Amino acid sequence: MAKRLIAFDTTSRNSNLALIEFVRDYLDGYGVKSELVFDEGGGKANLYATIGPQDQGGIMLSGHTDVVPIDDQDWHTEPFQLIEKDDRLYGRGSSDMKSFVATVLSLVPVLVQRNLRTPVHLSFSYDEEVGCLGVRRLISVLAGRPNRPRLCIIGEPTMMQVGIGHKGKHTLHCRVHGHEAHSSLVHQGVNAIEAAAEIIARLKEIARRKRDHGPFDPDFEPPYSTIHTGLIQGGTALNIVPRECTFDFEIRPLPGEDIEPMIAELRDLAENRLLPEMRAVQPGTDIVIEERSSAPALNTPADAEVTQLAAALSGLNGTIKVPFGTEGGLFSAAGIPSIICGPGSIDQAHKPDEFVALDQIARCEAFLQRLIDRVSQR
Ligand SMILES: [Zn+2]
Repeated sequence: MAKRLIAFDTTSRNSNLALIEFVRDYLDGYGVKSELVFDEGGGKANLYATIGPQDQGGIMLSGHTDVVPIDDQDWHTEPFQLIEKDDRLYGRGSSDMKSFVATVLSLVPVLVQRNLRTPVHLSFSYDEEVGCLGVRRLISVLAGRPNRPRLCIIGEPTMMQVGIGHKGKHTLHCRVHGHEAHSSLVHQGVNAIEAAAEIIARLKEIARRKRDHGPFDPDFEPPYSTIHTGLIQGGTALNIVPRECTFDFEIRPLPGEDIEPMIAELRDLAENRLLPEMRAVQPGTDIVIEERSSAPALNTPADAEVTQLAAALSGLNGTIKVPFGTEGGLFSAAGIPSIICGPGSIDQAHKPDEFVALDQIARCEAFLQRLIDRVSQR
């Protein structure tokens, strides 16, 4: 099954429909009906299905179907062809996270054979890698339903440990609109790059404050909220005062930390310090800061039902917090408590020669078998 799933090039910029239709037909073959929740253009879809009683909420097994690009990566195997070598499966998405989806699907014959007391829901999303975009539509469809999932296990790679928390991730875009002038007449222009640089310097200042003064959570690496500027573009030539500068930055707050005061500080800098000076030269100049995507942090209590369940199924003591974002924050915020537990390691994700160890898949299979035993009629 992993071989089949990895063969679909579901890089986020592509449609995922070929994979989704394959899964739908596969489930259909076992008499399981799928519901597709499409994106605006109809080129991508989430798939949602329930096995077992339809009139109550059960346990959702959730994964994303998209993968990150292979562009400019030095692969030694064919990325969209699963290769088994040295007790590992190589291929794009092998650890993040098609092996989990494949393991779940491979157990569908068992799931339909058993008489389930508690339903098992399957949720396979699109566009997770580009800001957890796709699953939001599915969540809004499920939100009003009395039989929406009661809890959720997300199979992102944790080496089958139980992950109960991660930071949030907010991506923001800033556009500075200045005014062009000959570079010998700087006083007649408004330098967009310089204004952008002042905002970026403030971002760095806030980042240092978080690093030095917290808040801190020692379960995270690093143990504080982080901010970084990752892209910048501006200017046309050295002898022209630049009119435009844009940059992108991200904030990854610890669970419970509000990013609004940070944004407010930037807006205050823009509105009360930079813009008055800019507009004194040229009234039409502007600074626009907008949030491009936001995925909330995950902070599931150690004594929550879903945590206890996953701990029992994994047979491992203790829980972890993971360094990457997932759809779990969105599910939890929508009233579906979530944990992260899946085969493989995030160390291999997003890299060339991505792989998952076969013993991880075996452990995932055992985990899911125990889940099936638990929700079956005796
Ligand atoms: Zn992932």
